[in-house]
Amino acid sequence: MPTPSDSLERIWSGLPVSPGVSEAVVHVLQDSFDEPPEESIEEHEIESELARLDTAMQKTKQEIQALQKTIETRGDSSEAEIFETHLMILEDVSILDHVRRTVRTKLRNVDSVYHKLMRKHIEALRGVDDPYLRERYIDLKDITQRVMRHLRGEHRADLTFDEPVIIVAHDLAPSDTVQLDRSMVLGFAVETGSVNSHAAIIARSLGTPAVVRLHGLLEGVVSGERVVLDGDEGLLIQRPSPETLARYRQVEAQAEAQDDMLLACSQGPATTADGRNVRVGANGEFIDELDSIVESGAEEVGLFRTEFVYLEDPNASEDALAELYEAVVKRMNPKPVIFRTLDLGGDKLDPLLAAEPEPNPFLGWRGIRVSLNRPEFFKRQLRALLRASCHGPIGIMFPMVCGVEEVTAAKAVLAECRAELQAEGVCMAEHIEVGAMIEIPSAAATADLIAPEVDFFSLGTNDLIQYSLAVDRLNDRVADLYQATHPGVLRLIRMVVDAGRKANVRVGICGEMGGDIELTPLLVGLGLDELSVATGQVPRVKQAIRKLNQTECEKLVDEVLRLCCPKQIHQLSADFAMRSYPELLA
Ligand code: PEP
Ligand code: MG
Repeated sequence: MPTPSDSLERIWSGLPVSPGVSEAVVHVLQDSFDEPPEESIEEHEIESELARLDTAMQKTKQEIQALQKTIETRGDSSEAEIFETHLMILEDVSILDHVRRTVRTKLRNVDSVYHKLMRKHIEALRGVDDPYLRERYIDLKDITQRVMRHLRGEHRADLTFDEPVIIVAHDLAPSDTVQLDRSMVLGFAVETGSVNSHAAIIARSLGTPAVVRLHGLLEGVVSGERVVLDGDEGLLIQRPSPETLARYRQVEAQAEAQDDMLLACSQGPATTADGRNVRVGANGEFIDELDSIVESGAEEVGLFRTEFVYLEDPNASEDALAELYEAVVKRMNPKPVIFRTLDLGGDKLDPLLAAEPEPNPFLGWRGIRVSLNRPEFFKRQLRALLRASCHGPIGIMFPMVCGVEEVTAAKAVLAECRAELQAEGVCMAEHIEVGAMIEIPSAAATADLIAPEVDFFSLGTNDLIQYSLAVDRLNDRVADLYQATHPGVLRLIRMVVDAGRKANVRVGICGEMGGDIELTPLLVGLGLDELSVATGQVPRVKQAIRKLNQTECEKLVDEVLRLCCPKQIHQLSADFAMRSYPELLA
C-alpha cells in the first residue's frame, strides 16, 4: 500500500553539467555486471536465445585473441598467457552445457542463467584459502563481464525506447552514450561523474540537460516513473507537484524565447566592437547533430570527435567510414569540418582497450599513441578522411601529441595514404589543413617547434587543464582544483598563441573553456583566432564577442597575468563579462 511519502515530491540534488529542463519517464541503465532480470521465454525462442549466447561467446573470443596478439607484438609473452586462461574459462564445456541445458529446460533468458552460474563460481573461488586460486576469481569476473557486455549489446531492447526518457545510471561511459537512441533521450541523471567527463560533454553537445553526483539515486527511482530533470540547478524531482510543473513550464518558455532571439542573429560573423573577427565553430560527435550545428550559426565544425561514430561500430570498413565522413562533409559544405583522428583511451575505451585495463588510462595508451602503434588501423581512418575530402572542405587534427615527433610521424602516415589513393585514382582535395591539438603541457611548451609542421593549433583545454595541474578531469574529489583560470594554464595558452602568431598558424580552443562566456573577455584578450564550443553555446558566444572590445580585453589580460589567484582571475573576467553583456548572463 502506498505510504503518504510515496506521493510526495522528492528532490534529489547533484551537480549540473548540462543546462536545460526536461520532463519525462525514467529509464534506469543497468551496469553490465548487475544482475540481469530473470525472464521467462517461450519454447520457440530457445534457439534464438542460444544463438545470442553463441554470438556473445564468439565476440568475446575475438576480443581476447586480438588483445593477446597486441600484447605478443609488444613482446610480453607472459602476460599473453593470461589470456589463454581466459579462453579456457570462456570455452569451458561444463559451463556452457549447464547454461544451454538450463535455458532449454527452465525456459529462462540466457543472460540471467549465465550470470547466475558465473556468479556462483566467482563467490566459491573468492572463499577458498589458496591465494592463487582466490585470485582466479578476477579472471572469472573479467570473462563474465565481457560476455554480459556482449549479451547486452546484442539485446538492444534495453537501449531503444518507445517514449522520451531520462536516463538514470550509476556511471555513464561514452560507449554507453553511443548505444542509446538519442532522439528519445531527454536527459541524463547519473550517480557519479564530473563536468568534464565525455558523457557530460556529449550531453552539452546534444543540448540535453544532465546532472551528475546524484548519490543514491538508483536506490530511489525505478524505470517508468515521471520526473523533472533540472540541468540548470542540478536537481531531479520525483513525483513533481502541479505547482512545480507549472513553474518549470514558465521558466522553459522564457528560456526558449531568449534562445530564439539569439538564434535570430547568430548567422553573421562574430566581430568585436573594434573590428577583430573571432571564428566561432561547434563541436560535434554524431551525424544527427549536424542540422542543429548548421542552425546554430556555427562557422565550422571546429572539432569532430571521431571516436563516437567509431564506437558505434568499431569494425566499420574503410568504405563504411568514408561514406560516413562524406555524409558529414556534405551536410556542412561549404563550411569546413575539422576531423580529429581517433582519440581512444582515457574514458573513451573501445573494446580492445577496455579489455586491457591500465592503472592510469589518461596517462596511458591514448589518442595519437594508439593510432601510431596501429598503423593499419590509423590508415583506415586517414584514407577514409582523404576520400571524404573530395566532397567539401575538411581539416585533420591529431589528438594528444606531446611534441613535434608525433606530428611528423602522423603526417608521414597521412602522406603515405595520399600517395596510395592517388595511385588508385581516387578523388581528394588538393590541400587539406593539418592541425595539432595542444592538450599536453609539453606540446604547449614546444608549440614553436610544432608550428612549422601545421596549419593550425587547437587547444584542448579539457585535457590541458588536467595535465598541467595534475588534476584528473573525472575525479570529484579534486574537482575544485580543476581551474581553467589558473595562471599556469593561462600562461600556456599565451605561449601557444605567441608561437602561432610568429609562424602564421591559427590558434583556437576546442575545450569546454571556449564556451564559458564568463571567460570570453580573457580568451579574446589572449588573442585566440577561433573558439569551437558546444552547439547550444554558439549563439551566446558570438553575441558575447560582438559586445567586447579587443583592446580592452587585452588590458584585462595584462592585468590578470600579474595575479596569482585563479578565483580572482575568474572573478575579474566574470565582472568584465557582466559589464559587457549582462543580458546574456542573466
Ligand atoms: C580537450 O581535451 O579539450 C578536447 C577538446 O578533447 P576531449 O575533451 O575530447 O578530450
Ligand atoms: Mg582532449
